Amino acid sequence: MFALVLTFALAGSTIIVPKGSQVLPKSRSLTMDMSLNLREQFSTDKVIATNFNQLDSGDKVLAEYIWIDGSGEFLRSKTRTLFKEPTNPDELPIWNFDGSSTKQAEGADSDVFLKPVAIYRDPFRLGKHKLVLCETLDNKMQPHKTNYRRRCAQVMEAAKDEHPWFGMEQEYTLLDVDGHPFGWPKNGFPGPQGPYYCGVGANKVYGRDVVEAHYRACLYAGVNISGTNAEVMPGQWEFQVGPSEGIEMGDQLWIARFLLHRVAEEFGVIATLDPKPIQGDWNGAGCHTNVSTEKMRKPGGYQEIIAAIEKLSQAHAEHIAYYDPTGGKDNERRLTGLHETASISEFSYGVASRCSSIRIPRQTQVDGYGYYEDRRPSSNCDPYCVTEAIIRTTCLDVKKLSRSYTPQDAEKLRKMINDLQKNKIEEHDEQK
Ligand code: ADP
Ligand code: MN
Ligand code: MN
Ligand code: MN
Repeated sequence: MFALVLTFALAGSTIIVPKGSQVLPKSRSLTMDMSLNLREQFSTDKVIATNFNQLDSGDKVLAEYIWIDGSGEFLRSKTRTLFKEPTNPDELPIWNFDGSSTKQAEGADSDVFLKPVAIYRDPFRLGKHKLVLCETLDNKMQPHKTNYRRRCAQVMEAAKDEHPWFGMEQEYTLLDVDGHPFGWPKNGFPGPQGPYYCGVGANKVYGRDVVEAHYRACLYAGVNISGTNAEVMPGQWEFQVGPSEGIEMGDQLWIARFLLHRVAEEFGVIATLDPKPIQGDWNGAGCHTNVSTEKMRKPGGYQEIIAAIEKLSQAHAEHIAYYDPTGGKDNERRLTGLHETASISEFSYGVASRCSSIRIPRQTQVDGYGYYEDRRPSSNCDPYCVTEAIIRTTCLDVKKLSRSYTPQDAEKLRKMINDLQKNKIEEHDEQK
């Protein structure tokens, strides 16, 4: 117990080293050894686990009911036994959970209902066992207020003749169990960014086992995963899901995220979707959203793409409000105008431009049709909110979305500090 506390204390005090400082010696420090022990201490013997996991479950099917909790960002799940293999979500029973433990209810009336909406094969339990994605319902069997899927599904239904396709690029960062970036020296920073993006080699990428296992798990489950790559910051990775049509985009990305957290758990590491896990000169993490309608995918589609971007330019602040779970606050840390992002406060677009809000791929311009990429969504965005906002603005011509972003901490604070400093300097000058 003593060792455990000490490790956290030591690890906590060694993470933050001023930006720009050089790499510290790679020696295996005391802290590092202790943290490795910590991971071993918390993990059980997977070989023994396999012995039991292989036991025949007879005619019973295990269904893992999965839902998005009240944070709008994290997933929860629990298991129930079914007596028959389901082929359609409607065959599955509605279930419930204690909403007071998930920020989804208060007080005595805390039952929240789970309505199955999509079924996937379970890559952990194998066989007939299932992963079941659920919507949350309140006690009147209406969509719970944290259930953003229902409205997205309605919007996608209204726009279905346009056949909207999405491809989302999920960036994430692997952390050690102590919260330190996975593979980073425990008492400092790795060398500056440059060699890590799409890198190969033990000194360039960290955690490839997790990435490969997750890819296979997605394919097994039936998730339309379309690629993966190591990212700019060491320990940061990306996978892409899509193209997927309509509501499938959100469903598939949420299940892919569940699989990511679950696979990482097996390896004793943490996958964080925080949009700026490390302050300073390190890239943040986004969830670029590639979009096309049937017309955009056909010759002459370029005009359609420009028309959609024109509409998006009129609704920038509104869209930012839908692109992270905090109405824009999380993205304030990421959309700085640096590290291949555009500023949160301005809309911009460009061909092949990675510092714009929207990028038109070079190939799309050359072909005269294709898709565009909205680079603003944060890594922890809700894909239901993102895809819904895009379709409302560009296909359903909704002039005003109900949410809108007003600069919160970042600019207010910056301004306050500037003002304070100015005042101080003026006061100082007067005293002289
Ligand atoms: P980037 O060059 O920005 O890193 P990626 O290759 O990581 O792009 O991701 C591109 C995504 O766009 C993929 O998920 C892919 O499935 C998706 N995509 C490709 N064509 C279309 C299309 N016509 N409409 C929507 N998404 C598409
Ligand atoms: Mn990408
Ligand atoms: Mn990327
Ligand atoms: Mn991209």
